[in-house]
Amino acid sequence: MGCIHYNQNIMIRGDIDMKDYIIRAITKSKHIRIFVASTTNLVEKARSMHDTYPVATAALGRTLTASAIMGIMLKGDNDTLTIQIKGKGELGGIVVVSDSKANVRGYVNNPSVDIPLNAKGKLDVSGAIGKGYLNVIKDIGLKDTYGGQVPLISGEIAEDIAYYFLKSDQINSAVGMGVLVDRDYSVIVSGGFIIQAMPDIEEDEIVKLENVISDISSVTDLFNEHITPEKVLEVILKDFEYEILDKVDTNYKCTCSKDRMERALISLGKDELRSLIDEQGEAELNCQFCDEKYIFNKEALNSLYKESIG
Ligand code: ZN
Repeated sequence: MGCIHYNQNIMIRGDIDMKDYIIRAITKSKHIRIFVASTTNLVEKARSMHDTYPVATAALGRTLTASAIMGIMLKGDNDTLTIQIKGKGELGGIVVVSDSKANVRGYVNNPSVDIPLNAKGKLDVSGAIGKGYLNVIKDIGLKDTYGGQVPLISGEIAEDIAYYFLKSDQINSAVGMGVLVDRDYSVIVSGGFIIQAMPDIEEDEIVKLENVISDISSVTDLFNEHITPEKVLEVILKDFEYEILDKVDTNYKCTCSKDRMERALISLGKDELRSLIDEQGEAELNCQFCDEKYIFNKEALNSLYKESIG
């Protein structure tokens, strides 16, 4: 059996067409809901786009995975969710955005952070982030955005997300996020899960869940070994009857465009635009989420200036 299992893993991993996706499931008792995401491709895309070093890849990848799952928890089709992490460490901060279809994008302030492994020999994400806070902003199309801010209690991201759910939504959660980076800095595997206990959860269900979670010594190992969200779910909910409700593709997708950049320039106001034209003659705008460059020459800026004076 062991041998067959091994071969299957190799076969699946060799299949480059395996897409990133999230499954949503619920136990038969309806007391526990769970989301499991595989995000290897989208995290590798972010890694190569931003040229992140391993610890930055892990920090960004874990946050992208969390945001993809939290994105599909949003109620409205046009809702978006932003996770901001701000820390005093070398990484600086992380900004990640997801929509309700799990299209994510994000960046870190310092992609080249290079610090020693932690005492367990793992990428030191909390060391790179340092003391700070996590902010979740939900834009649900109303005039005001809402969300909540919590201090970082671990800086390893998963625990901080769980703490956010507890403080802002009073939901007890178990969160696991993992990114495994290869020697050549590429992403071998990335994934994560969010388990949420409903208020009417029974004591024995809590015990069974806690036992499984305490058996998971490494989230990256869990995904590296089981690969698909369905298999990972099987491990986590092995003592429960459950139903998979939903399967949603997740992708790295930037929303920048020339039009958006033009609007950003116009929003500077006519005086700012005038001095930009007079002093620099042209403008180069970089999208932080995908590093795309947008160049506006004098003629283009002049026509935006005309627009800004109406
Ligand atoms: Zn972009």
